[in-house]
Amino acid sequence: MRPSILFPLFAPLTALRGIGPRMAPLYKKLCGEHVVDLLWHLPTGVIDRSYSPKLKYADRDRVATLTLTIMEHAPPKKPKLPYRIVGVDDSDQVVITYFNAKGDYLTKLYPVNKKVVVSGVLERYHGNWSMSHPDYVLPVERINEILRFEPVYPLTEGLSSKMLRKTVEQPLAKLPELPEWDDPHLVKREGWPAWKDALLTAHNPSGALDETGNARIPARRRLAYDELLADQLALAVIRRHHKEGGGRALAGTGALQKKLTASLPFKLTAGQQQSIAEISADMAAPKRMLRLLQGDVGSGKTIVALMAMLQAVESGVQAALMAPTEILAKQHYAKLNEFLKPLGMDIGLLVGKGRGGDRQATLDGLADGSLKMVVGTHALFQDDIKFKDLGLAVVDEQHRFGVSQRLQLSDKGRGVDILVMTATPIPRTLTLTAYGDMDVSRLPDKPAGRQPIDTRLIDMGRLDEVIEGVKRQIAKGAQVYWVCPLIEESETSDLAAVTERANLLARRLGSSTLSRIAGEGAEQREAGEGRFRAAKANECLPPSPSPTLRVGPPPSPANAGEGNPVGLIHGRMNSEERDRVMAGFAAGAIKVLVATTVIEVGVDVPQATLMVVEHAERFGLAQLHQLRGRVGRSAEKSNCLLMYQAPLGEMAKARLKMLRETNDGFRLAEEDLRLRGPGELLGFKQSGAQEFRLADLNLHQDLLHIAHDDAKLILSRDPKLDGERGQALRTLLYLFERDAAVPLLRAG
Ligand code: ADP
Ligand code: MG
Repeated sequence: MRPSILFPLFAPLTALRGIGPRMAPLYKKLCGEHVVDLLWHLPTGVIDRSYSPKLKYADRDRVATLTLTIMEHAPPKKPKLPYRIVGVDDSDQVVITYFNAKGDYLTKLYPVNKKVVVSGVLERYHGNWSMSHPDYVLPVERINEILRFEPVYPLTEGLSSKMLRKTVEQPLAKLPELPEWDDPHLVKREGWPAWKDALLTAHNPSGALDETGNARIPARRRLAYDELLADQLALAVIRRHHKEGGGRALAGTGALQKKLTASLPFKLTAGQQQSIAEISADMAAPKRMLRLLQGDVGSGKTIVALMAMLQAVESGVQAALMAPTEILAKQHYAKLNEFLKPLGMDIGLLVGKGRGGDRQATLDGLADGSLKMVVGTHALFQDDIKFKDLGLAVVDEQHRFGVSQRLQLSDKGRGVDILVMTATPIPRTLTLTAYGDMDVSRLPDKPAGRQPIDTRLIDMGRLDEVIEGVKRQIAKGAQVYWVCPLIEESETSDLAAVTERANLLARRLGSSTLSRIAGEGAEQREAGEGRFRAAKANECLPPSPSPTLRVGPPPSPANAGEGNPVGLIHGRMNSEERDRVMAGFAAGAIKVLVATTVIEVGVDVPQATLMVVEHAERFGLAQLHQLRGRVGRSAEKSNCLLMYQAPLGEMAKARLKMLRETNDGFRLAEEDLRLRGPGELLGFKQSGAQEFRLADLNLHQDLLHIAHDDAKLILSRDPKLDGERGQALRTLLYLFERDAAVPLLRAG
C-alpha cells in the first residue's frame, strides 16, 4: 500500500483550486491526472522581471517592471485605435496601450494619481516609451506578487503559464517532508538539497535558465537521480525475483528443431546458429533465462525465436510470443504458421478482445495444454488467460513494454524463461535502463542474397518529382511505403496532414496508372502468400475523414485492383480498419501505403521496394533505419527516399548523410548516441513507455550509472528494504510509481 504521507501527492488534480471539468482535460494532456504529475512538470524557461530601470536610462524591447504614477487616461477616438494611459516615474513618461479594452475596467486598474506597478515589454514608439498590454498591473503595495524570475512552463492550448503557476503553487505550499532515501555520502558530495527543497528550487528558479532548463544544477540533478534510482531499484528487485524465482531445465530433445531446420528453404546464418546455441544452453540450464536478442531489421530473429519455442515444446511446456502491436502479432502468426506447416503443428493467436469462437478455442487449448504455442499482443496478460504450463516467453521489440508488463507475463507461469528481441541495436550502457542487466546475443550478419538499399536525400520542394517517381515505380508493379511523421501537438491536425497527403497521392496516382495496375494487382494477389485475406482496394480505406480519399469508380468485385491505389494507416484507426488496409497492401491491391510511424517495427511485405519518408530530419537515425528496413526484403533492388525540409542544420545534414552511407544498424545506433544522446535512441520520445519525467539521459548519464550501482548495493545490504533507509526507499518506489516491485520484496 502507498504510504499515507504520499496521499496528497496522489490526489487527483481536480482537488486543486482552479481545476474543474473544463481545465482537467488540458492538465491531463499536459502532465497527467495527479498532483504529483503537476509537480514533476518543471519550468523550462524564465522571464526576468527583475529589471526595474528609471525610464530615462531604460533599454528598449526588454521586459521591465516599473513603478509609475498614473497621470491620465485617453480613451480611443475611433474604435480601431488603442486606449492610452500615461504614467510617469521621476525621469520620463510611458504610454500604456490597450486594444479593445473596456474603459471602466482600466480606470479601476489604473487609478489616476495613484502608484501602480506594471511589468511587460518596454518599447520605443514615435520617440516615446510605450508598453502594450502589460503582463502584470498591481497597486504598488502588492509589488511582491510579481516574481523577479517568473518560471515559464511548457503549456498546451487553453492553459496559460500564469494559470498553471497559480495551480502548482498550491501543492508546493504544502509539500511533505519525505524521509531521506539517498545515500548521505552522495548527497554530501553532490551538494544536494533534501527532496522538498529540491522540488521548490526547481519550481522557483533564481535566475535565467540555460537551454537545458538548468538540468545540471544540484536541485534538478537530485530530482533526476531520485527518479533514476527508483527505476534502477525496481529493475534490480524484479531481476532478482526473476533469477531467484527458480528456473527450469528445458533441455528439449532436438527433434522438432531438427525437423524445422531440414524444412527451411534457406541456411541459417552464422549469427543465427550461434544465438540459437546460446539460447538453447540457457534454457537447458536450471536457472531462469533472461536474454536479449539484438538483430537489425531483417536479420532473421523470428526463426531464432521459433527454435527456442520448439525447444520449450520438446520439453513439454508451452511458449508464448508477445508483440507490441496487433499488426505485428498477426504477421508473426502468419510467418510462424508458414514455418510450422511442414511440421504439422498448431499455433494460437490472441489479440484484443472479441473473436468469439476462435478465441475461446485458443483459451481452452492454452488452459488444457493441447495448444503448445501462442502469439499475441499484451492481450496475453489478461486475467482470463491461463496457461497449463508456460515455460518460455518471447517478447518482441521490448522497449515498448514497461517493467510491470514484463512482470505480468513471467507471472503467467512458473520460472518462465524470457527472451527479448529488439531490432534497435542498443549500445551496452543503454541496455541498463531499458533492460537492466541481461545476457545478450547478437545477429550481426544479414541473410545472404539481400541487395543493399539505395538511400537518397531529397528536398521537400521536389515533392512533384518524387510523386512522378512513385508513379513510375508502381507502373512497374512495385509497392511503396510513404511515411509522414507526427509533428503537431494535436493529433487531429497530424491526422489532417497525413490524410491530405493520402488524398494528394490518390489524386495524382489515381488516373492513368490505374488501368495498367488493375490487372497486375489481381495477379499478384493470387500469387501472393495468402497471409491476409485479399481485400478490395476500396475496402482498404479507413472511413475517410475526407470524402476525396475515395476516388475512382465505385467498387466492383470483379475488378478488385481498380479504384484507389492509395491506402492510409495511422494510430487512431481501430485494429480492424488497420488490418484491412495492411491486408490490402500485402495482397498488392494497395500500391502506396501512406502511414504515420505505426509501421515502424517489424512489418513485413517483401514486395514493397520503395520507402519514402517525409520530414526525415524529424526522425532519429535508428528509427529511420528501422523504417528503411521495411524495404529490401526481397531479391529486388530497393530504394529509400528521405525527404527533408530545407534548410537543414549541419548536424541534421550529418545525420542524414550517415544513413545514406551505411546500412549497418549498430554503427548508426552508435552514431545516433553520439549525435543525439540516448533518450532519442531508445525511442522513448516516440513510445512513451519508459520516458523519465525528471531525468534526461542526455544530461544525467553519470547519475544513471551511480543509481545502477547504488541499487545493487542497497539490495545486497538490505534485501527486503526493512531498515530505516530501506523504508524511505519504499516511499521512493511509490513516489515514482515503481511500486510493481514492492510486493516482490516480501519474497526476496
Ligand atoms: P527480423 O529480424 O526483422 O524480425 P525476420 O525474422 O522477419 O527478421 O526475417 C526477415 C526475412 O528473412 C524473413 O522473410 C525470413 O524468412 C528471412 N530469413 C530469415 N533467416 C534467413 C536466412 N538465414 N536466410 C535467408 N532468409 C532468411
Ligand atoms: Mg521482427
